[in-house]
Amino acid sequence: MADHYEALGVSRTATQDEIKKAYRKLARELHPDVNSDTASQERFKSVTHAYEVLSSPESRRDYDMGGQNAFGGSNFDFGDIFGSFFGNGQRGPKSRVERGQDALLRVELTLQEVVFGADKTLEVDTAVLCETCHGSCCQPGTAPTVCDICRGAGQIQRQVRSLLGNVMTSAACGSCRGYGQLISSPCVDCRGQGRVRARRDIELKVPAGVEDGLRLQLSSQGEVGFGGGPNGDLYVDIVVRQDDVFGRSGDDLTCTLEVPLHDAVLGSVAKIETFDGEQTVEIHAGQQTGDVITLKGKGVTHLRNSGRGDLRVMVQVLTPTKLDSKQKELFKALAALRSQEQSRLVKQSHGFFARGKGRG
Ligand SMILES: [Zn+2]
Ligand SMILES: [Zn+2]
Repeated sequence: MADHYEALGVSRTATQDEIKKAYRKLARELHPDVNSDTASQERFKSVTHAYEVLSSPESRRDYDMGGQNAFGGSNFDFGDIFGSFFGNGQRGPKSRVERGQDALLRVELTLQEVVFGADKTLEVDTAVLCETCHGSCCQPGTAPTVCDICRGAGQIQRQVRSLLGNVMTSAACGSCRGYGQLISSPCVDCRGQGRVRARRDIELKVPAGVEDGLRLQLSSQGEVGFGGGPNGDLYVDIVVRQDDVFGRSGDDLTCTLEVPLHDAVLGSVAKIETFDGEQTVEIHAGQQTGDVITLKGKGVTHLRNSGRGDLRVMVQVLTPTKLDSKQKELFKALAALRSQEQSRLVKQSHGFFARGKGRG
């Protein structure tokens, strides 16, 4: 086994402080996060082992006397030692600055807004940067002080006895909660958080053609983090309100047009109110229930390319009720003239839209 003093590059008479300093310097150079090559890692292990032995006066004495009691066992667990010094891989004090949380909002749209797209104003209630301390968490003119308990390390090391001998363990410093620094005069406006809650409005351009349930991501529009850390993202869930008249099928709009029997028989022109204003629908003579009349390009604007879907108008022929006696006589006369026609079973059709497609 290599000499521990040599490994650390210190003399045999080095003070505990010199040993610590030498180790910190080497650990910074050889740390696996910095140097991943095998040689550096091997050296880092032996340097760390040397430090663990020499940093405790007790095990150093044992080592000087030629004993290997401190870590002489073959079951030496490098991971434990590594973790104990670095706080399980964490080097030095933890940062007060954290990324902010994501925020989630809902925006409700009418179908008309989906067809053409919409500009919406959203009220966002999130944490924003404290303008008094600009995220430093300190009263203006003051600064954090180094924690006198852990001396800025953020970790407290303790020697504990174990089956392997004395080992060093470390835990977050209770005085500074691991930050290594204390804020003696916290900013009053944010109570030392570096951020405050505020409402603000943001303008959201909702593209045409979005679907119910779609989630839009606005990066860095979420909460400011603790200590003035970077913003999280803002997510906006799209909720589309049901329309009383129009439905949506892909990028087509659908609706049902009730047509009086005589118009369906003789043909007619109907005016319908759409998202594009009043439109004319031509009813052919002999138009049937279930026939679909297509108004090209009057549907939903495509989300990802130009153009629009169609408006599909499904015809529903109304059977007249509440006939007066004269109308009843006329239907009876008509029935007599068409007496060869009778009700009959027909081959099953698959839904309303299976029939009459493309006859518009
Ligand atoms: Zn503040
Ligand atoms: Zn501390």
